[in-house]
Amino acid sequence: MRLLVVEDEKRIADFLCRGLEGAGYAVDAAANGAGALDLTHSTDYDLVILDLMLPDMDGIEVLERIRRAKAGPPVLILSARSSLDDRVKGLEQGADDYLVKPFAFVELLARVRALLRRGQPTLEKLQVADLALDCIRRKVTRAAETIDLAPKEFGILEYMMRNRGRPLSRTMIVEHVWDMDYDGLTNIVDVYIRHLRSKIDDRFPQKLIQTVRGIGYMIEAPDKPVDRAPDAVSERQG
Ligand code: CA
Repeated sequence: MRLLVVEDEKRIADFLCRGLEGAGYAVDAAANGAGALDLTHSTDYDLVILDLMLPDMDGIEVLERIRRAKAGPPVLILSARSSLDDRVKGLEQGADDYLVKPFAFVELLARVRALLRRGQPTLEKLQVADLALDCIRRKVTRAAETIDLAPKEFGILEYMMRNRGRPLSRTMIVEHVWDMDYDGLTNIVDVYIRHLRSKIDDRFPQKLIQTVRGIGYMIEAPDKPVDRAPDAVSERQG
């Protein structure tokens, strides 16, 4: 899930980006309307968080132009303007929700999750074989055993499970899970896949994360489920 935060006040923008990244989202930031429009034209976002008072144009204009260009991502307006008029105007112009500053981060996060859920009502829970991922509670279990994942690990796994059976390149994974400030190597994906495997695959006979040669990775249940004999759990490290 990739979000765009449009906010000119650096302190608030940093606070939002840090919090949302901590919750496992990839987050880009724009400090003005023009930057926001550039980014929404070039990148598919799952959600835009939009401040109304921007230095170069009114946030409502940004909203109109996002909406004019294409159906576009859901937009959550975040503004110090609290009058009923402003709220109605924002919602009439196609905003999906409106939160008045100051706000509690937990409330913002709850609204963000609700909006992201709205687009994908049937996919709150993802399942591949006995691996289950609950997008709302951000909980992962395999064979009913809870598995703790770091936010980026969770992001990669969620992305792979949403694209079950589809080979994903390292670049696709990086673009989906890291934000645009990340300009490191796509090798980072291999490192995270190794972590994920150690947590969700190594102890189980049925390996779900598959390496697709020349492309990257894919998650899928193998064709023939392997019988779960406790003795058969491989000790690959010997
Ligand atoms: Ca502002």
